[in-house]
Amino acid sequence: MVLDTGGYVLHQVEYGTSKNMLVLSGNKAILTVRKGSVAGQRDNFVREWYRGLLKDEVARLLPKWEKLTGLKCDGWQTKYMTTRWGTCNMAKRKIWFNLQLAKKTPKCLEYVILHELLHFIEKNHNEHFLSLMDKYMPYWREIKRELNGQILDFMEWHV
Ligand SMILES: [Zn+2]
Repeated sequence: MVLDTGGYVLHQVEYGTSKNMLVLSGNKAILTVRKGSVAGQRDNFVREWYRGLLKDEVARLLPKWEKLTGLKCDGWQTKYMTTRWGTCNMAKRKIWFNLQLAKKTPKCLEYVILHELLHFIEKNHNEHFLSLMDKYMPYWREIKRELNGQILDFMEWHV
């Protein structure tokens, strides 16, 4: 079965008898699900799998950008969102990352990390904000174009 993925070229579903598994192999993502499991359970499994992936990536990349900018994030979470890649609470210095970033390249995640961190010192997307983006990530416009060229949708697995 071939599925639309967004992130990987091909997803494939196989049926197994043990627990559900998602394995990345080359540019393929292979999902092994228990026979008899219902679509909702599979979607749940895939979503949580992506969440784990994203959390690892944030934990790996956030400290790098905190160090570079000198801005400290006091807490972050992943969340399924349909209209934005990230959001933040300036007062609490908290960031929410869109779960769908798990399907994007680490560069995309780094762009969102930097963008949200900079909101801790600049609320608006004004000249000041843009100059800070330019300073820390001169190529950010390219990444933004890449992100905005992709429609936000749910990681649906029509299995
Ligand atoms: Zn913003």
